[in-house]
Amino acid sequence: MDNKFKSALKKAVLQHDLSKEDVVTLLNAAPGDEQQLLFQRADQVRQRYHGNGVHLRGIIEFSSYCKNDCYYCGLRRSNKDIHRYRMTVEQVLDAARQALEMGFRTIVLQSGEDPWYNVGTIAKMIYGIKKMGDVAVTLSIGERSRAEYYLLRFAGADRYLIKHETSDRNLFNKLRPGTDFDRRIQCLEWLNEAGFQVGSGNIIGLPGQTIESLADDILLLKQLDVEMAGIGPFIPHDQTPLAGAPHGDLQLTLKALAVTRLMLPQTHLPATTAAGTLHPRGRHMALNAGANVIMPNVTPLEYRQLYQIYPNKAGSTEQPRQSLENIISIIREVGREVAQDRGDSPKERFQISI
Ligand code: SAM
Ligand code: SF4
Repeated sequence: MDNKFKSALKKAVLQHDLSKEDVVTLLNAAPGDEQQLLFQRADQVRQRYHGNGVHLRGIIEFSSYCKNDCYYCGLRRSNKDIHRYRMTVEQVLDAARQALEMGFRTIVLQSGEDPWYNVGTIAKMIYGIKKMGDVAVTLSIGERSRAEYYLLRFAGADRYLIKHETSDRNLFNKLRPGTDFDRRIQCLEWLNEAGFQVGSGNIIGLPGQTIESLADDILLLKQLDVEMAGIGPFIPHDQTPLAGAPHGDLQLTLKALAVTRLMLPQTHLPATTAAGTLHPRGRHMALNAGANVIMPNVTPLEYRQLYQIYPNKAGSTEQPRQSLENIISIIREVGREVAQDRGDSPKERFQISI
């Protein structure tokens, strides 16, 4: 085993803080002993900070309309080959109620960037869900104004996910035409200021990405001090400009996840659906490399097949209860259990009572 690798790993375990050069060294961990040791250390840090519990977040994908044109995503507005849908507030509340009956303590409301839903409509969803019990609401609806973020927070939303996607600003601006890297980071800052528990994250294996830029992704997550980070592989979609590009590498995704766990020990890290789509045991492997969260899909079956970010998404043909049962089996297979608490961030936040 390389000495440089051993010393970077030791520093990561003891200090949770590394230089870019050290992060690159860990991301370059060789298959075999080095990779195994990296995953083992990340798993130990996960155990120390989060214990054996895996938090479940039930995700409702309520609209497949999007005003953006991201090169990597099947929901991009130029894709005329998909059937678009919008769920009503009542349909969202029904799906959330069923999820709560199944035991979920967090509901994630996700959509394309769809201004058809104004803040008032989203507020009705948030308020309706919060009235159902002790449940956290996470939003993942993209870029909005600072005022809208404040209003959504005052409506009772607890968390917000908005991935920075890639820290390579040229690549970001190229792959997300009409949007801007600095504005994305600005959104993350506004969300933090509005009192949300904030999540970001990045895609692994975008065409043109380098190991150095993946190291910058991890350093950016550290600098933003995010409470959640979604790190998943790129999966090409046929109806996008990146059709035919190779998918992201699962081992590299696991390494990025493990290094992120070492750098941000308290952060919630999901075993992503994209990892489970690339490999039937992708989520098992992620849970053994630092992940402590899974996001089962609780979107009604008639809609989830239409929310095609990328093809053959894991779980896209299952009913919500089936998705939950499959995920509980994954958790048990790796010797873990479903966490019983809401899985909030340990950081102090100003509280809003409604
Ligand atoms: N529209 C919102 C946004 O972009 O923040 C939320 C929904 S978007 C579908 C959720 C995430 O899907 C994005 O942050 C992106 O990382 C991921 N995604 C989109 N296309 C993907 C692809 N082809 N492979 C892997 N992840 C993808
Ligand atoms: Fe729209 Fe989000 Fe897909 Fe970009 S990643 S096209 S913003 S849904």
